[in-house]
Amino acid sequence: MTFPYWVAGRPASSTDVVDVRSPRDGALAGTTSNATAEDIEAAVAAAHEARQEVAQLPAYARADALDHVSRRLGERADEIANLIHAESGKPLKWARAEVGRGVSTFRWAAEEARRFSGELQRLDTDAASAGRLALVRRAPRGPVLGITPFNFPLNLVAHKVAPAIAAGCPIVLKPAPATPLTALVLGELLAETDLPAGSWSVLPMPNEAASELVADPRLPVVSFTGSGPVGWSIQDRVPRKHVTLELGGNAAAIVCPDWTDLDFAAQRIATFGTYQGGQSCISVQRVYAHRDVYAELADRVVAHVRKLDVDTEVGPLINEAAAVRVQSWVDDAVAAGAELLAGGPRQGALVAPTVLAGAPEDSAVNAEEIFGPVLSLAPVDSVEDAFARVNASRFGLQAGIFTHDLRIAFEASARLEVGGVVIGDVPSYRADQMPYGGVKESGTGREGLRAAMDDLTEQRVLVLTGV
Ligand code: NAD
Repeated sequence: MTFPYWVAGRPASSTDVVDVRSPRDGALAGTTSNATAEDIEAAVAAAHEARQEVAQLPAYARADALDHVSRRLGERADEIANLIHAESGKPLKWARAEVGRGVSTFRWAAEEARRFSGELQRLDTDAASAGRLALVRRAPRGPVLGITPFNFPLNLVAHKVAPAIAAGCPIVLKPAPATPLTALVLGELLAETDLPAGSWSVLPMPNEAASELVADPRLPVVSFTGSGPVGWSIQDRVPRKHVTLELGGNAAAIVCPDWTDLDFAAQRIATFGTYQGGQSCISVQRVYAHRDVYAELADRVVAHVRKLDVDTEVGPLINEAAAVRVQSWVDDAVAAGAELLAGGPRQGALVAPTVLAGAPEDSAVNAEEIFGPVLSLAPVDSVEDAFARVNASRFGLQAGIFTHDLRIAFEASARLEVGGVVIGDVPSYRADQMPYGGVKESGTGREGLRAAMDDLTEQRVLVLTGV
């Protein structure tokens, strides 16, 4: 099947044809084309042109469009899940879950569009300002360049497009080269709405073209989700733009000795350290378990990992090169003294779910983002010790702590250098409406519908006199 790209709401195609293939078996998932320079220019010009109209679109119109997309995603859920599965190789189970989240992301955006306002501030707190009042509105910053990675071809695109529409910003979306098709289907749903033509475009393009777009002054906001080196280089290139970066991490799960259900913790760790090949920015990578429970936890994690169905629960990495890299990091860790508790030979893009114990803290499996189905376990002497190891990382997206102790929960929230702490579960939990993002090298700015809308807008003050 051939998928058009979308230029200011209209379908288009070029002779620069792109075949998108499954990392599982090379089967053709679909065909599209890279946008031409003329079409990219037309999309950006239209976004710039439409910025005032889009900013002034009434809330009901934004919400209606977002509700429509949410509903249609639900109606076409099976087909879209199959497409995500076909182009990314992700197991169908996780592709279906992603579509469910996409439905909810657009629905939340519709709700936030209805209630997003501002505040009334009294100014008559001293005599000179008697009779004055300020209306503080949230004004859209203007057209957004959204750039997304391959690992959630629908929901991370939704996290760019939905809040932009809700906040009144036109958006030019550049999907990942490996998985552009789902974003193009989302374009079909957007095209069914009454949104103004210039308010959205979906344009597959080579990275060089995207890099040029980053510098285009008509796109004052860049919202990027992807790897750290690309993200930070964007920030460095356009320091005067408003840049949001959702980058990688090496998320940790901490298991405290008070946690009563070790098997539950082990099962969650096994699942969310390996699901969709570990290709989630908050996949469990490091596990710090208190010495009192470490041996039992490790046994149970290994047992759960061995039970995983590699085909329907784990799946391949996005390409063979990624799998070769992940396997080499595992081999390096073993050479540096780590014990291989579970694993197996790589087959093409497929890395066997792997559990390592005692890898040095500075080995790549601990210190870098592995983005593969690999868990690195280590015993710790105390919660303090675990916190120190989490904070020693250059990254800081989320952490998960298995504890029943509220004091540990509050302390973690205050002291862990991460964007979010999950108590009673793995760090991989994300509800789409909650503020989400990283500290340190994991990024800057927050997504989550309301948080993204705050980020895409700035305060404008209207002072009224004589009121
Ligand atoms: P990537 O950085 O290789 O690519 C991301 C996007 O940037 C793609 O669309 C790519 O084409 C584009 N790109 C690449 N070079 C560019 C350039 N010079 N200028 C402009 N655009 C450019 O990342 P990836 O491999 O697709 O995704 C995996 C990474 O994404 C991991 O590091 C993962 O942790 C991260 N990620 C973060 C989050 C989050 O919310 N924090 C979510 C998912 C993935």
